[in-house]
Amino acid sequence: MEFKELPPVKEQIMKCVRCGKCRSVCPVFAEVGNETAAPRGHVFMVQMLRDGKVEPDKAVYDKLSACLMCETCSVNCPSGIDVHELNAAARSYIYEKNPSIAKEFIFDTMWTNPGFLKASTHFMGGLQKLGLQKIARDMGLTRILPGDLPEAEKILTNIPTKSAKTCLPEINKTVGPKKYTIGYFLGCATDLLSPEVAKATIDVLTRNGCEVIIPPGIKCCGLPHIANGKMDTARKLAAHNIKLFNSYNFDYVITDCASCSAALSRKNMEFLFKGLNIEDQAYDFSSRVMDLTSFLINVIDIQIPEVKYDKKVKVTYHDPCHLANAQGITREPRELLKRIPGIEFIEMNNANSCCGGSGTYSVTHYKMSMKILDKKMDNVMETGADKLVTCCPSCMMQLKYGVRRHNWKCQVVHPVVLVSECYQNALIEQGENR
Ligand code: SF4
Ligand code: SF4
Repeated sequence: MEFKELPPVKEQIMKCVRCGKCRSVCPVFAEVGNETAAPRGHVFMVQMLRDGKVEPDKAVYDKLSACLMCETCSVNCPSGIDVHELNAAARSYIYEKNPSIAKEFIFDTMWTNPGFLKASTHFMGGLQKLGLQKIARDMGLTRILPGDLPEAEKILTNIPTKSAKTCLPEINKTVGPKKYTIGYFLGCATDLLSPEVAKATIDVLTRNGCEVIIPPGIKCCGLPHIANGKMDTARKLAAHNIKLFNSYNFDYVITDCASCSAALSRKNMEFLFKGLNIEDQAYDFSSRVMDLTSFLINVIDIQIPEVKYDKKVKVTYHDPCHLANAQGITREPRELLKRIPGIEFIEMNNANSCCGGSGTYSVTHYKMSMKILDKKMDNVMETGADKLVTCCPSCMMQLKYGVRRHNWKCQVVHPVVLVSECYQNALIEQGENR
């Protein structure tokens, strides 16, 4: 579909009344203080692109790509403008006029091919294990990497050597009577960077009446592609996943990754497919998609087993932008944490402010990402929490780096891992009492 015909470009730009509300909440504008870095400035820039008043060149792309895609502006815009969608549409339009071989390789060859992505990630993990990554860093070899990658590779430590998919069966039978058949959308980041989250998700779901199927051949949700100007590739990935999951008869499609559930949501399906042939299939698919914490609270009404504990653990929660802003899900993760025995929940200030990770942003805009991360870490450290909980593997990676960067003693963890630990501890206690 042509850039000018895309729904946000065609229908939303004229709604901007230049009020500046978006500017007052934008984390990038707070650092830069320049209108070209503000969402209002982006809306104006997209309008000029649409009207042919600026060229679709790299300079405009660079200005637009300084945005995190955190959606804070969009949820605060009184005119209901999806500023991030306008931005994504413009990035894609500009990218098509200025393609890059490196991006084609990363986003079309590597990231569309789960086997290739896995091999590359495990290669990094292998280098780490052998100590070669540190040697390469010490020798300055990582400096030959493009853009901010030489600095950003510090974030990518502790890559597991085994992915979740290599450890988990395709069909995971329920423990006890079956109530639901679940399609588990096991996203790239959970699979490759946080396999313990996938194992905990399967454990908790199967203990709560769910048969969980991991359809072979799941591809990336496409969110990194949208953020990097590769909207056509995002459409191809989404179309593949829609057909794959629609070929089963799932009651729900569950994901433990905030970015994946945002990418698979009705809102994003409208952005990608409105007016195209696949539109209805896309809506059918997204109507079954649910974030894991919402499912556990609103559908299952999970009752977590009581377990013994010596003293309460202080826990705080970071709202992933793709859960809080994109989907309005803030209550359920907190409710889940409050149901876990032995937890003292402490609300941090600005819990819904971005951590600066935003998928690939910490790699493409390392310095800005770190400024935003440091603010987030101030809020985290004020709580004195022992555990920092969040529902997005990408945020987890960024926050783990934040914890290391600030020498803070705190475990960064997905809530489902804490829930799964309760089930495991309850089983141990039952065994001891027999
Ligand atoms: S908040 Fe909305 S209407 Fe106001 S300047 Fe920003 S985009 Fe325009
Ligand atoms: S999406 Fe976030 S970073 Fe981007 S313009 Fe909006 S508020 Fe700023």
